[in-house]
Amino acid sequence: MSFNRPDIIRPPSEWKSYFLPLTNGCSNNTCTFCAYYGSKLQTRDVDDIKSEIDAVTLFTRRGIRLPNIPGVVYAVAQEWDGRRVFLQNGDALVYPFAKLREVLQYLNEKLPTVDRIGTYATPQDILRRSVGELKELRQLKLGILYTGLETGDDELLRKIGKGVSSDQVVEAGRKVKEAGIAFSVTIILGLGGIEGSQKHARETARALTGIDPDYVGALTLTLIPATPLYEQWERNEFRALSPFQSLEELKLIIENSNFTDCFFSSMHASNYLSVRGRLSQDKERMLKQLDKVLAARDPALLRPEFLRGL
Ligand code: SF4
Repeated sequence: MSFNRPDIIRPPSEWKSYFLPLTNGCSNNTCTFCAYYGSKLQTRDVDDIKSEIDAVTLFTRRGIRLPNIPGVVYAVAQEWDGRRVFLQNGDALVYPFAKLREVLQYLNEKLPTVDRIGTYATPQDILRRSVGELKELRQLKLGILYTGLETGDDELLRKIGKGVSSDQVVEAGRKVKEAGIAFSVTIILGLGGIEGSQKHARETARALTGIDPDYVGALTLTLIPATPLYEQWERNEFRALSPFQSLEELKLIIENSNFTDCFFSSMHASNYLSVRGRLSQDKERMLKQLDKVLAARDPALLRPEFLRGL
């Protein structure tokens, strides 16, 4: 079966990257809130990936376009500054290690201006790799891994089908940091619904403190049709937070987390309010910003629903 190129879904910080697909779908397709729920993982042939790297090399050096290469390759390459590459898709770290090493070696050889490669990785993908393997990938410029903690509440992690405990995410983070790779963790505001909100926030702050990542990205739950969580919501078994309740959750998480040096943000398009800063030094300023918006309760201060994105 030929490889289906995935749509571009990326962390906000990868907006300048070249998007190179290694897989399509996610190997852990059981998360009840996620667009990848039930997706079938496809892995791409190494030779196919190398052909794309060759095409990008030819285009960026000499402006030559090849007829058999999809238009999206050139659409992305012409905006690209040659520095960052983001490996797609849901968890490209699942790509078999020997093949991943071969792809990264080829990428380094053909495009030596690249200074950082990033990818999404599940905690399971990271735990399957040894620190030695991660260090090898680091030497090949794998500089950042983006992983979903989603929540630190272990009961909620089981409920949403994440397949790992919060302690396992802490362990995955330890390995990534030991390998010298930056670790970026996402959490999802509203994931516990109204009933689970307090516990979700407090346990998430506890787990984040244990992971002590370089970056935390807060997203706000968006209910996606045809996912199990959406169906629970339709049956009134899940009560979603209001925008201001999601900001109260965010405030509780920031208040109760402690980090060595972490860039914490809610810049993702799914959020109602963008808050950002380095923790702990900016904690007070960020909490004041939230307090102000929470006191005013003015919807005009929030991103309108129609402008929210996944
Ligand atoms: S591991 Fe991540 S990408 Fe995969 S289904 Fe769960 S939330 Fe989605």
